Amino acid sequence: DHDMSVQQWVRPEILAMAGYTPGEQPKPGEQVIKLNTNENPYGPPEAVKQAMHAAIHDNLRRYPSPDGYGVREAAARVLGHGLTPEQIILGNGSDDLLTMLLRTFIDPGQVVASMEPTYTLYEALVTIQGGCYRSVPWQPDGGLPLEGLVALQPKLIFVTRPNAPTGHVVPLEQVAALCQAVAQSAVVVLDEAYGDFAEDHGLPLLAAHPNLIITRSASKSLSLAGMRIGIGFMHADVALQMHKVRDSYNVDRVAQAALLAAYENWSDYAPLIARIKQQRQWTTTQLRKRGFEVKDSYGNFVLARVPQGGLDGLQWLESLKKRGILIRYFGSIPQLSEFLRITIGTEEEMALLMTAIDEIMKVA
Ligand code: PMP
Repeated sequence: DHDMSVQQWVRPEILAMAGYTPGEQPKPGEQVIKLNTNENPYGPPEAVKQAMHAAIHDNLRRYPSPDGYGVREAAARVLGHGLTPEQIILGNGSDDLLTMLLRTFIDPGQVVASMEPTYTLYEALVTIQGGCYRSVPWQPDGGLPLEGLVALQPKLIFVTRPNAPTGHVVPLEQVAALCQAVAQSAVVVLDEAYGDFAEDHGLPLLAAHPNLIITRSASKSLSLAGMRIGIGFMHADVALQMHKVRDSYNVDRVAQAALLAAYENWSDYAPLIARIKQQRQWTTTQLRKRGFEVKDSYGNFVLARVPQGGLDGLQWLESLKKRGILIRYFGSIPQLSEFLRITIGTEEEMALLMTAIDEIMKVA
């Protein structure tokens, strides 16, 4: 049959994998409250939009800068910590940086380790690269399972901080200790996609740990998910190798203009981030009042265990969807079957969420 003859050319690793499923997108024109992919509820600052507009009218017929040097200079200057542009590399989203890291470090069959639960894309990317993905549970207190990780003999370790979907942060001293423990055998990738919503971050660790690599995303705190921009920080010698494996022009002109303007107008983001954090606290309190179990989150989302004896996780997902609210439910991950992950939206959106929850609890 036709399909079979096509499939026989496909790599067995790809045939065997389920494929990553991102959060559902609303149909064109459909009005929903979208709290399922951790986007920023507020648009980017005016100055950022103007810079993108200017980039469109400038020189789109030309390729972008292949390595985004100007953006990297601005990032080094604004972020401080003694960073130089030579330690920075841009990606087409931070997902692109994760792919580049695996291409740089992982040969077929080598082990890539992480904790569970965490960002489910890691496993897919490792499989595509021909590596072996292995995971160990977080410590009960959210700490790093150092011995368990080392025992896997990984070549690369993903540490997500704040973690998705739990929202917790592992102490930075433990990240430093991990870098130290595997200094001769592995690189540690600290995924700070949600780092701007936390109280501290890993950049101060870079100078002392040449095997540490930090990735960040413009999709969450910088409100540029639609632009696909990520940024990575690492030892300059590592960055030099990573530049070899990136797509030749991996970040387009408009995206580079947007990120440059984001750094040049960095302080414009502070009120937006503060508002999201405030709303995160309000949402946590309101969910707890309604019988949800919610740990403190350091991201722009919360992970909530549904109230005992009521609807199950899937029923909550569906009931909210019927009321036009999309949230994330990880039905395929057994330890998360009773949990909902809810992105922090605007004040109005979160109030509507609580109203919907009250209605659902009344009928259930
Ligand atoms: N890391 C984590 C932990 C994430 O949750 C996400 C968002 N799905 C990403 C990386 C990738 O973000 P982006 O590619 O949009 O920068």
